[in-house]
Amino acid sequence: MIEVRKLTWLWITFSLLVLIVLIFTFIPEAKESNEDHSGYITLWFDDGLLSTYEVAYPILEEKNWKGVLAVIADQKIANKKFIPDGDPIMSWEQVEELRDAGWEISSHSMTHPRFNNITDEMTLRLEIVSSKDRLEEMGFRIDSFTLPYGEKGDKFAEKLVLEEYSYWRSCIHETNPIPPERHIRSYLLTTEHQKDDIISWIQKAEKNEEWLVICFHAIVDTPSHRWQHTYSQFLMVIEEIERSNLKVVLPSEIFDQYSCKEVQ
Ligand SMILES: [Zn+2]
Repeated sequence: MIEVRKLTWLWITFSLLVLIVLIFTFIPEAKESNEDHSGYITLWFDDGLLSTYEVAYPILEEKNWKGVLAVIADQKIANKKFIPDGDPIMSWEQVEELRDAGWEISSHSMTHPRFNNITDEMTLRLEIVSSKDRLEEMGFRIDSFTLPYGEKGDKFAEKLVLEEYSYWRSCIHETNPIPPERHIRSYLLTTEHQKDDIISWIQKAEKNEEWLVICFHAIVDTPSHRWQHTYSQFLMVIEEIERSNLKVVLPSEIFDQYSCKEVQ
């Protein structure tokens, strides 16, 4: 009888030990795999459009992802340019709401001109320097410049951007190394891009442990030009990002963590 009791206790102790070993073996792994990622991704929304606030923001909020919002400092001129395309500019209160939700606000110039057509220094100052001043006067923290149409302009324009901003974004279709350069490259989503294209950008960033930036414009029912997106195309991109191993980050997080690679 005593032998049976002893054996039972031995069996219970052995089982408990096995259970403890299993818990300590598998729980840390499960935790790690949740945090495991190779590479980073940033979602960058140009022009401060109402569809970014009404469509993209709630979807990102659900996933606790933050984006970058590139705003044009003169909203009157911006509305004149963008309303004909079917998507107006969001209000300053809506920009503030995104900022308060953790989004990064970027200057996208004063009037959204084509920089490659401007040589006048006063005009370049207004677009690059005064846009930043105006946004900062409104209480926004501005670290970056988003080049309108991805155009960098002449040497003077480049010099102003370099002096005024910690980093800036063009539309050169490349992934960014880690640590990144102050010049951030991005993939501009167009109506032609299919699921396979998005997967290939993601896989490139994952494989090389790099930083992918995807740049978005208006999300509308019927795109009026190739830089706009349908709701289903936008959702497809979001689903592929969610399926990936890339971590959604803001540029400030990347630069805070890795600093930047100085290029001579
Ligand atoms: Zn733009």
